Amino acid sequence: MKKEKNENQIAKTILVMSGKGGVGKSTVAVNLAVWLSLQGKSTGLLDVDLHGPSIPKLLKMEEQKLFQLEGAIRPCEYTPNLKVMSIGFMLEDRNTPVIWRGPAKHGFLEQCISGVGWGDLDYLVVDCPPGTGDEVLSTAQLLQKVDGAVLVTTPQELALLDVRKCISFCRQLEIPLFGMIENMSGLICPHCGKKVDVFGRGACEIAAEELGVPILGAVPMDPELARTGEIGRPIVEAGPEHPTAQALAGCFQEIVQKPKPYSSNQTGSKPMKFAVPTNDGRLSAHFGHCRQFAIVEVDPETKKATGVQMLTPPAHEPGVLPQWLAGMEVQTVIAGGMGQRAQMLFREKKIEVIVGAPDQSPQELVEGYLAGRLECGQNICDH
Ligand code: ADP
Repeated sequence: MKKEKNENQIAKTILVMSGKGGVGKSTVAVNLAVWLSLQGKSTGLLDVDLHGPSIPKLLKMEEQKLFQLEGAIRPCEYTPNLKVMSIGFMLEDRNTPVIWRGPAKHGFLEQCISGVGWGDLDYLVVDCPPGTGDEVLSTAQLLQKVDGAVLVTTPQELALLDVRKCISFCRQLEIPLFGMIENMSGLICPHCGKKVDVFGRGACEIAAEELGVPILGAVPMDPELARTGEIGRPIVEAGPEHPTAQALAGCFQEIVQKPKPYSSNQTGSKPMKFAVPTNDGRLSAHFGHCRQFAIVEVDPETKKATGVQMLTPPAHEPGVLPQWLAGMEVQTVIAGGMGQRAQMLFREKKIEVIVGAPDQSPQELVEGYLAGRLECGQNICDH
């Protein structure tokens, strides 16, 4: 089943990811692939969403069959410029859910990813399985190279929490990020055409700033987008002048125009992250009662702070702060006083804790610590 080596020349591979299902990942992937093909780019769309391969339906290609030629699976054609490979084409019965077992799942993914003869492509768009589990890990590892990922999210808090995990996942695998698309961002009323903010506003901007990942654009919740999905004609093709199609196209322009996707690891080494509990811009003596946390990012080579963000912590309950800071990939906490139990909870999250730090600004504390000149006193909260 393996393709001939070097048969595929793929200029750019873009992963479309999401922290959880149902946020519009496949809708974005299909519109991105069709949009690229309409720009005259030779495009491939690979759907490896094992539990919900929806691309055949979104392109009205459910009846298409795959065939093999010269040892490789040939993708189906939506148009001469857009080739499509979906796990859905390989399933016997699309109405019966497949219960995947570990090794079978990996083998199937391998066949779909490594066994396809795409030929020459300008872009390969990959509709990944949702989340950060072993399926998406296998996908990223089986692809020969990944140029960047697009994260699809909704403004809901839960989806954003999942997005944080996705971002850490990309960073761990050194996958650069093009940015996030905020889907279902407000509802376009089908009667009056006005936008209603169903999930509230601003959550995505706050998360983007906090996580240092750009927002590529916002796409409203629009019945027309759902309808065009139902009839199998993506909106960027069915109604390119429609405002929602334009919103999607705006996000896609951002992707193709970016000379290099954003990466927190541009220099090859990850920034170091410190958290310092503060009151009025200086160290707070009591860790659990501080008003804000300073998150200090440091360039590992120069050991200098490259940015400080002041964040209001969630309500103080055991385990909440370690979880919150671990989600932001903080590696070290510099505190005045901290109880033993809290220290243990941090250690469980592999976060180092320095206690007894003096009354200084977060930047002074972090740079002093890294230069080996931080003088710590007693832990004043040793209960
Ligand atoms: P995922 O791939 O994340 O599971 P889908 O792309 O399959 O999500 O979308 C789930 C459902 O939501 C589909 O019925 C789709 O048509 C609909 N949908 C996605 N984005 C929007 C939107 N912006 N407005 C209206 N419906 C949407």
